[in-house]
Amino acid sequence: MNFNINENELLELLQELIKIESINPTLSKHGSGEAEIAQYIGNYLKKMGLEVRYQDIGDGRLNVVGILKGKGNGKSIMLNGHTDTVSIDGMEIESFNPVFKNGKVYGRGAMDMKSGLAAIILAVKTIIETKGELNGDMILTFVADEEYASLGTEKVVEEYHADAAIICEPSNLQIVIAHKGFAWIKVGVHGKSGHGSLPEFGVDAIVKGGKFLVKLEDLEKRILSQKKHPLLSSPSIHASLIKGGIELSTYPDYCEIQLERRTLPGEDRDYITEEINNLIKNLHGEDTKFNADFDVFFYRSPLEVSSNQPIVQSLSKICSQTLNRKTKFSGFSGWTDAAILNDAGIPTVLFGPKGVGAHGSLEFVNFRSVVSTTQILIGTILDFCN
Ligand SMILES: [Zn+2]
Repeated sequence: MNFNINENELLELLQELIKIESINPTLSKHGSGEAEIAQYIGNYLKKMGLEVRYQDIGDGRLNVVGILKGKGNGKSIMLNGHTDTVSIDGMEIESFNPVFKNGKVYGRGAMDMKSGLAAIILAVKTIIETKGELNGDMILTFVADEEYASLGTEKVVEEYHADAAIICEPSNLQIVIAHKGFAWIKVGVHGKSGHGSLPEFGVDAIVKGGKFLVKLEDLEKRILSQKKHPLLSSPSIHASLIKGGIELSTYPDYCEIQLERRTLPGEDRDYITEEINNLIKNLHGEDTKFNADFDVFFYRSPLEVSSNQPIVQSLSKICSQTLNRKTKFSGFSGWTDAAILNDAGIPTVLFGPKGVGAHGSLEFVNFRSVVSTTQILIGTILDFCN
């Protein structure tokens, strides 16, 4: 199934989006944020006949949402992509002056993920021009802040819902139905301060913290690395930050260790809490002078969508027809906004073009894969919403 998409317009739009600097301002103080690119996309969508709304996520940073109502007797679909990029520190070529060479488009955001945004817009434009009204609604959400705290997609789920969603992050034209989650945990190890010459009084919180770190390595080796998910490999845990101590001649009464636990589907917040709790309890059993408390202070859930979901079925059918190959399901090791949509009751998959150098010093996207992404989006939307 092939639709007549305007490839020149797709390329031009991608290049225009790259030209608008939209570095996440929380990541880099020189970043301009997402307002200008949101306005640009909003105007584009208005010309296409969509109802356009903006959501302010704070400090004038904008999401832009485009809605095209269907006849009301079909399933609704959300198409999502982030408009922010990471910074350009250390980039090799002109980051906002996109170059098209040998079938590749170079520039910051070319791969991650302005190509996905352009594919969404051109897919919907082609549908409007060739098919007119669908049965179900299309909700296009172009969100801010995915590269930092996902404030944009969190704002989207407060107001909008759909029967399914596709996020067009670069996925190498594979259908991503799972990714890991993560938890950030602060562990406070408590000792007793005392003069360095009086060991009978002091309890060294840093040395006790060392015992905890040994247990952590043991947990990773004996348990976590033995677990395997077919698409995501193993979960993991590592110590990221440590601080403690006051001066050389004093026993430290406190040592703080911050950890990151990367989780598989099924390992929810309670599970992680129980795991760390057991670790501390066991250590206290072995050494009554070991005392610690902890807090899971930030948690993002993993993603796993059943391959029986209608959106996965539609996408994989159209994918194999268009690319003439068997569907490949895959997993991301990193976390994405898909988990937020999925947790809000919108079954969500990731699907997008092929590129190299996301967040790196040389970033490009393979333009043919952007064309394929657009084709596949058109087919999937028609199949799912009609
Ligand atoms: Zn991205």
